[in-house]
Order: sequence, then structure tokens, then C-alpha cells
Amino acid sequence: MSATAGPERPGTTEDVLATPLQYLKGVGPRRAADLQRAGLVTLEDLLYRFPIRYEDRSHLAPIATLKPGRPASFAGRVLSCGLRSTRRPGFKIFEALIGDATGALRAIWLNQPFLRDVFATGQHVVFYGQLEMRGHGGLQVTNPQYEILEQEEPAEGGDNEVGQDTSEGLDRPAEGAAGGRGNADKGVAGVGGDKETIHTGRIVPIYERTGAVTPKMQRRLVFDALQRLPARLPEHLPEEIRVRLKLPSRFASLRSTHFPPIDATLAALNRFETAAQQRLIFEEAFLFQVGVNARRRSAEIERKPKPIMVDDRIRESARRVLPFRLTGGQRQALKEIVEDLQRPAPMNRLLQGDVGSGKTIVALLASVVAMENGLQVAFMAPTEILAEQHFATITRLLESSRFRVSLVTGSTPPAARRDQLNDIREGRVQLVVGTHALVQGDVTFDALGLVVIDEQHRFGVLQRATLRAKGLHPDVLVMTATPIPRTLALTVYGDLDVSSIKELPAGRLPVKTAAKPESRRDEVYAFARREIDAGRQMYVVYPLVEESEKIDLKAATAMADTLAGQVFPHYRVGLLHGRMKGELKDQVMRAFAAGELQILVSTTVVEVGIDVANASIMLVEHAERFGLPQLHQLRGRVGRGVGQSYCILLYQAPLSDESRDRLRAMTETTDGFEIAERDLRLRGPGDFFGTRQAGVPTFRLIDLVRDQVLLEAARKEAARWLDATKPSMKAVERIVTAWERRFKLIEVG
Ligand code: ADP
Ligand code: MG
Repeated sequence: MSATAGPERPGTTEDVLATPLQYLKGVGPRRAADLQRAGLVTLEDLLYRFPIRYEDRSHLAPIATLKPGRPASFAGRVLSCGLRSTRRPGFKIFEALIGDATGALRAIWLNQPFLRDVFATGQHVVFYGQLEMRGHGGLQVTNPQYEILEQEEPAEGGDNEVGQDTSEGLDRPAEGAAGGRGNADKGVAGVGGDKETIHTGRIVPIYERTGAVTPKMQRRLVFDALQRLPARLPEHLPEEIRVRLKLPSRFASLRSTHFPPIDATLAALNRFETAAQQRLIFEEAFLFQVGVNARRRSAEIERKPKPIMVDDRIRESARRVLPFRLTGGQRQALKEIVEDLQRPAPMNRLLQGDVGSGKTIVALLASVVAMENGLQVAFMAPTEILAEQHFATITRLLESSRFRVSLVTGSTPPAARRDQLNDIREGRVQLVVGTHALVQGDVTFDALGLVVIDEQHRFGVLQRATLRAKGLHPDVLVMTATPIPRTLALTVYGDLDVSSIKELPAGRLPVKTAAKPESRRDEVYAFARREIDAGRQMYVVYPLVEESEKIDLKAATAMADTLAGQVFPHYRVGLLHGRMKGELKDQVMRAFAAGELQILVSTTVVEVGIDVANASIMLVEHAERFGLPQLHQLRGRVGRGVGQSYCILLYQAPLSDESRDRLRAMTETTDGFEIAERDLRLRGPGDFFGTRQAGVPTFRLIDLVRDQVLLEAARKEAARWLDATKPSMKAVERIVTAWERRFKLIEVG
């Protein structure tokens, strides 16, 4: 994850940041390996990992002054300690009596017997934790965080903290010698060489423990690393911006972010709002934005196979396909897309619109425009079921046109597939529907002009790269019903244009949503019966958790049996799950769409896209197990017709806080954009976008929720810098190189 050694410009001070951590005091092969496992290889890795919070240890409270009910830092000596058994078998409590000149209190840790090997009488320790009153008087702190300040530490001082591999002590003294002392107190204002003043007597940084790398170990390493840093650290930020925005130097910022000066305020630090922190966050955001912007500019000089033209004949041709009046949002989106189509550079647009907002028809109209220009269209869906559904819809709509549509799936027999591929290669087929594998497989086009990627908020960045690798530069339209909060779309995907459809077609009633505990199941069934008797249909969805796929499958199968045999004996119940053969799946889906089945029990394969307007109930089992976007997607399966629809979230009590928040969000709003914002807040951006493969940069300092304002500022500054000041190619290249090295996005561009 880090930019490893291999300094590319020998002799510059920049190299210092590329110095492997092994050159720091107290870091030998073993600890270096620990650090590497924690993603820390160079000084840069270390210095660009922010503290997660700060603790004011400049005035450690005397024990006698501590009050119950709030968190506090205090220090003291271990007067006695030991492991205590409890009445519960196997449950042990580690207890320590901590004292200073003013008094004593008890610290306990539940079920951490290894602390026996960590604490010893006489140690000087700093604690941080919530104080509480013990039943019979006296203060107590439970599971406090701690740092052992003194005792221990042969030579260069290791960390006698939890998880410490005691054998590490063996290779420590030697390295200490190799690392060399003598640079203890250079440059870092307000910090003495004395270990005590690194870990206490000041506002101290608290780092996240990663694997065997303890917070205290990091603090000391950071301290050492800062000693080695030349004050004239090269700046990534253009001087003009730095001066105008009054940003402190990179060096000063790094220094006071890790070891805040005496006059820093704890609250500002913990909100990451000090000038130093903001500057470093801004720097990351700026580099990112320049990189994104530069990438975008280079995409703009790409040329697609053939410019697209729009005239009255083509407009008329599109109109003939349209079965209804477009909503305002659809019209606006279509206009933006068609404008892109007419440009010489390939389109790179995200069309986001809530479930049911009618994205498909917009994409199809754009497809007609492309096809009228003699180009082919690849229309891709995430699942075969969805591809089949698109194929059916599109075939129907294009029936009276001269365009030929073809469905490429894994289940096409080889001979038929060969013919199909021939037709596509020779241009006899104009629109090809398939799964996301379509452009990656063996399909060759005669004149691929437009690629539509449905239901993917992974942006098809990879597909784009694949296309480019094949020498293709078609227009690309990605559609998603999981909107990205606007600020994020703009900032993180600055190289993507975004169209949004905010309204649903006229006459749609918002889906009524209710969360119900298991105990109200009968009531729910009674309600469902009334709806079905009135001619409507119902989905029943089971969660599918990967690790227990079999169990879930059994649960879904059993549920289908129970529903069919006992609960709804007079209705026709079908079962749909991911393990079924394509043909069978298709049969079940078709039967449900045709109204032959009244209840469809399913694992989450119905999650995306499926469009059965007569279905009016979405019953989600174990709703507490689903993520917010998933629940929203499921809800989007109903409410697609004219009548009132319902989404019932059955949950198993008790609910965790997060589950409760998710269910609440679902019952409080049906707006997908609002859901996305809430999801981002609930889960944080890392999870929001899924894993790294999503092509989402992993920021080191930026928190996408906390730093939205800074991100926006950086975006403006980056665009301005590129536009107005016309930086030399060299200057841009330097930043882009730094950017690429940092964000490792080269491969997905
Ligand atoms: P999504 O945006 O979720 O992919 P779809 O494209 O599947 O939505 O459209 C949902 C349903 O709404 C479809 O049945 C479609 O035919 C219908 N629809 C789309 N646009 C309109 C419109 N302007 N007026 C009426 N119905 C529409
Ligand atoms: Mg759709």
C-alpha cells in the first residue's frame, strides 16, 4: 500500500520520506515486519497516518480530584495487581490498584487474563477511561486504555503493551545501537528528548493499534521520524495557493499534527480542525483533484470512432420507440446524454436515479440515437435475470424498428452462440444485451459506439480500462439506483459527469414502509392475504450471507414450503434463488411476471432491476441483516404500478444500534438520495463504496464525511490552478506522479 523505497530522485530531500522505517531506532527486522503488516514501510507511511485522537496529558489529574461519570487521563503507580476468578466459570477479571501522591483507585479489565504478563507492581502508567463509582464507595475504571511509561525498555524502549511479543526484546538492543542515538532533540519544538515528554506532559497523539504495532510504539517512531525530517521538506502544493490560503508549511504541519504545540486546543485537534491538520487534509484533497482533473483532461483528447449526429429524422425515430411521456428529470438526463453523444470525446457519464425513476428508457433512447448513426450498442446488466428482462423490454420496444437485438448469456448453446457472435462482429445486430462480462469476453463488435452499464455504482472504471485496452473508445453510460451523495460524486468522481433523475413517473405513490418484530408475523400474513385476494402479488426475501449460503438456502426453501403448505395454501408460491439453473430461474420469474405465481420467495437475486408492476408487497425477512442500499433496492421492486405498495421489514429483536438506525432510515424516507447520505454517515465511506476493488481511492487523511467542505475547496482550487495559472507541464506532471503514487489509480484509469 505504500510507496516503497526505490527513491526516484536521488539526492533530494524527498528521499527522506522514502526512508524505510528499519532505519529508525529500535526497529529491527522483526518489528519492521510488524510495521509492514500494518501498512507502514517508509517514513512517509508513518507520518501520513494521523492520530485517531489526542489526549491531554499536560495536566494529568491527581487521583483525588477525579470525578465519576466522565472520561479522564490520569497517571499513577501500580500498587498491586492480579488476576481474579469469578463465579462464572472461565471468566476472569484482572485488577490493579493504582495510586499517586493524592489517592488510589481500582482499575479492572474483564476477561483479559494476559494482562498478568503486562502489568507489574511499581510501574508508572498513564490511563484513560471512564470513571465510575463502585457500589461500596471508591472510584473505579473499567477496561481503561493504558500506557506503561517506565520500567521495562531495555535500551531503546519497546512497548510493554498488550500483544507484545516478548521475544522481540532479543533483537532490540542491537538495533538500538545501529539506529544510533544522538539525534534525540532536534527540531521538534516543545518536545524534549526525554521519553517522558513524548508520552506525557503534553497533548499526546493516540494512534490506532494495527496488529502488533501499538499506539505507544507508533508515537515514539513518529517522534523519531520527525527528528529526521529536514525543515525544508518539498511542498506539493503550489506556492501561490499556499500563500493565499495561509497554509502552514508541510514540515510544520506534520510536526504539529503529531506533536501539537503547547497552545493547541484539544477540542480543535480532536475535530481535526487545526491549521496543521487542515493543511495536510487539503494537500491530499488537492493532489487527488489535480490528478482526477488531469485524467479527465487527457480523456477529453481521446476520440470516439465516429461523431454522432442528431437531426429531425433521428428524433422522430426515438419518439416512435417511446411508450409514454418522459418525466422532466428523464428529459433533462436524456438531453445531457445526447449532448455528450454529439461531442468528439467519449462520454463518461453516470446516470443516477432512484429505483423506478425510469433509467432504462432513457438509456434506450440514447441507444436509438447511436444506432441511427450506424453504431452498435452494448447494454449490460449485473445478473442474467436482469439482462433477460432488459432484453424482453428492449425487444418489445424496438419491435417496429429496423434494429436487431441479441441476448448474449452463458447459457446460449455453443452453435447458436457462434452465429450470434458472427452477427455482432459483422454488424448485423445493432444492440447486444448481456451481463457485465459482455465487453470483457470474446465478443467482437463491428462498430461499438455506446456502452450502457446498468445497476452498477462501481462505475465501470475497470470496464472502461478494458475497452481502452481493446482500442475502443465508445461513449459510456453507467446507471445506478444507489445514488452517490452529490458532494461525493463531484469530489471523488470528478472525472465522471453525473445526471440525476429525482422524480418518479406521475401517478406513483410512495411505498409505505413498516418495520415489525417477528412477534407480529401473523398480523403481517393477514395483511398480505387481503392484498393478494385483491389481485396483487408479493415478494418474500431472505438474506443471503455468503458464509452460510447453504443454511440460508435451506431457510428460504423451508419458508417457501411453509408458506405454500400452511400459511398460504390457496395461493401459488414460487421459489427463486441464485443456485438455480438459468432456465428454471427464468421460468419462475416469467411465471411471477405473468401473474401465475402470487408469492415469490427469493434470496436476494430479486434485489436489482426486476420490474413487475403488479407486485405490491415486499416482505423482507431478517431485515436487520441487510444493508441500507440493499433494503432500498428491495423496496424498489414494488411501487412500480399505480396502486399503493408496501414494504414490510420483519426483524428479529433485539436490534443492534446500527440495525435500528437502518430500519429507522427506511421507515422515515423513501428518497434514495437521502438514504445514500444516511448510509454514508452510518457506515462511513470505506464501507459505503465497498472494497478497494471498487476503484475508489483509499485516502490516508481525508474522511469523506468529515472533510466534505475541504474536498470541495480543493476541487475548486485544483480546477482553478489548472485553468488560470496554466502551470507548466512539468509542474502538473510532478503532481500527477505524486498523485498516482499515492492513490495507485493508474491501473483503473
Ligand atoms: P429504474 O430506473 O429503476 O431502472 P425502470 O427503467 O425499470 O426504472 O422503470 C420503472 C418502470 O417505470 C418501468 O415499468 C417503466 O416502463 C416505467 N416508466 C419509466 N418511465 C416512465 C414514464 N415517464 N411514465 C410512465 N412509466 C414510466
Ligand atoms: Mg433499472
